[in-house]
Amino acid sequence: MLGPVFLNNSCSKQTSNRRPPKEAKVVLLGFDGVEPRLLETWMAEGAFPNLEKLAQKGTYTSLGSTNPPQSPVAWSSFTTGMHPGDHGIFDFIKRDPVTHLPDFALNRIEFPKARLGLLPGGQLQAENLRRGDPFWLHAANNGVRVAALHIPYTFPALTLPGGRSLTGLGTPDIRGTNSTFIYYGSNLSSDGETGVSGGRLFKLNINADKAESVVPGPPMGSEDHRYLTIPIRFERIQGGVRITVDDQRWDVPVGQWSPWTTFRFPVTSLWSIRGVGRFLVLEDQPEIRIYLTPISTDPSRQFIPVSNPEDFAGQIHKNVGDFSTVGWVHDTSAVDAGILPDDHFLHQVLDTMNFRERLLLSQLEQNDWDLLMSVFTATDRAAHMFYRYLDSAHPRHNPEALARWGQPLKKVYQRMDAVVGKIMERIDDKTKLIVMSDHGFHHFRRGFHLNTWLAQHGYLTFRGVPEGSLPDPIPEDSFFPDVDWRKTKAYALGTGAIYLNLKGREQWGTVSPGEDAQRVQLDIRKRLLDIKDPITGTQVIRQIYLGSDVFKGQAQRNAPDLQLGYSDGYRGSVKTLLGGFGKAILENNQDAWSGDHSASDVADTSGMFFTNWQLESASPLIVDLAPTILRMFGVAPPAGIAGVNIA
Ligand SMILES: [Zn+2]
Repeated sequence: MLGPVFLNNSCSKQTSNRRPPKEAKVVLLGFDGVEPRLLETWMAEGAFPNLEKLAQKGTYTSLGSTNPPQSPVAWSSFTTGMHPGDHGIFDFIKRDPVTHLPDFALNRIEFPKARLGLLPGGQLQAENLRRGDPFWLHAANNGVRVAALHIPYTFPALTLPGGRSLTGLGTPDIRGTNSTFIYYGSNLSSDGETGVSGGRLFKLNINADKAESVVPGPPMGSEDHRYLTIPIRFERIQGGVRITVDDQRWDVPVGQWSPWTTFRFPVTSLWSIRGVGRFLVLEDQPEIRIYLTPISTDPSRQFIPVSNPEDFAGQIHKNVGDFSTVGWVHDTSAVDAGILPDDHFLHQVLDTMNFRERLLLSQLEQNDWDLLMSVFTATDRAAHMFYRYLDSAHPRHNPEALARWGQPLKKVYQRMDAVVGKIMERIDDKTKLIVMSDHGFHHFRRGFHLNTWLAQHGYLTFRGVPEGSLPDPIPEDSFFPDVDWRKTKAYALGTGAIYLNLKGREQWGTVSPGEDAQRVQLDIRKRLLDIKDPITGTQVIRQIYLGSDVFKGQAQRNAPDLQLGYSDGYRGSVKTLLGGFGKAILENNQDAWSGDHSASDVADTSGMFFTNWQLESASPLIVDLAPTILRMFGVAPPAGIAGVNIA
């Protein structure tokens, strides 16, 4: 288990004396999911003076995204210069054609097994499942000095000759999940109450103003996925709560955040895994209610490999300050669960932007790079949660908060504008500046139960139920409960993908490849495109793409057979994501998660694109950035890259 750690260290010491064929300096700022139409509306009001200046000096246009226009897919195309059919990332999840079950598409992780009596230690083992290398690895191999900060879905950290990287979105928390917050509450009736997704809940029993509980850590030390835990104590004090973990004791007033806390989860007497996180005291009485952020690996003692060289994250920690390495750092799950209030979520979003700005400026000043890239994900997460503030009809619209704060998403975009301004001030005219987002955004008002529709129309059949109907009651579970695969032609997983139950590919395939498959595809497409929302009269699905047309490439076998492009306001329902069913075809979205893009029509969901020079191309695509940046350094793009030079 010590192997990979040693290997990383030794590789990272490599420095390249080579210089790239062409001298250049490039700064790329990525902002996840900025919607150009909102940006333009607010820019016209004068809200973004720096971006406006950049557009006047250079170019502002839209950036074509991937199909579907969602972060794992689009950032993988940014990273590799390949289309999804080649890099093989089509969604957050992928499915196993044999079992029809979904799995996480981006990476595979494995916890080290603690072996009693053997030398303990080691890191979590991780493998990135995307095909194709990051273009900046190719650049680094050709002498370009690269600093890559928070580029989504590049976990685990990559060895970069002569360069450095810190992973971003897609980096798991200490438990190996996308992000799991922790909540302690005396108001709960039991641990784990309400089945909140993305969180672990612990009931507090208060006795003489005190309560005890545990902090859950990584699964370790046994085969049955038990979690390491450490004790935690809470005590009511005047106006707040005293929190004690190990030798750390914080007196935190109500409504305030604790300092960063270190959690040492002991695996053996010699080895503990260290994580960091922060508490927010939500209430001290009559209930005690405490929120704890998803626990991040300690950047200075990484259990999860987040930087290369390995000590890069530790240096950042020392020089720039405390930070979370969790990819899904803005805790949308806790907002959806009604635990993290909007104002504290906004604080978390802006706080993370402040940190990333400080990090970016410190790297900029170091001036030992040729290509400096940094991605801010706050813009996307804020849009997911705050689109309801743009929508007075949304059940979780909050006019009172709106009056108090103004538009929270506009605030976040203004913070983005300020970051861009600080970079513009500090770079010379010879340095190329690119500011981009990977996709745009839409309202998410109504969810479509795609599997229910497939069942009602005889494409998906349940055991013991006539074709074209659903069991009563409809099963609540995910993962296709009671589906009769021998009579099923098609099924849906993810936010907008349909797969055929294809002979020779799926275990109990019923549809023959070729003519039969195409007939089913075209039939489903035609009927779905005809659907109008009975309440609004809107065409629910704007466009449907055939997988065989849009996912050509080496990874095509795993691609969806139909990719839906929903109209603004619509998306696959939450239940559809993991193979579940709902009663009606369309259902109102009641969640705080009120903006989305993950299954919107790519033709209507472009990102933004700014350059500080006049761009040749009028319609750049996200796959074009890899070859364009490589060409700036005189480096020929590697074979298999789809994009073209747009500079
Ligand atoms: Zn998003």
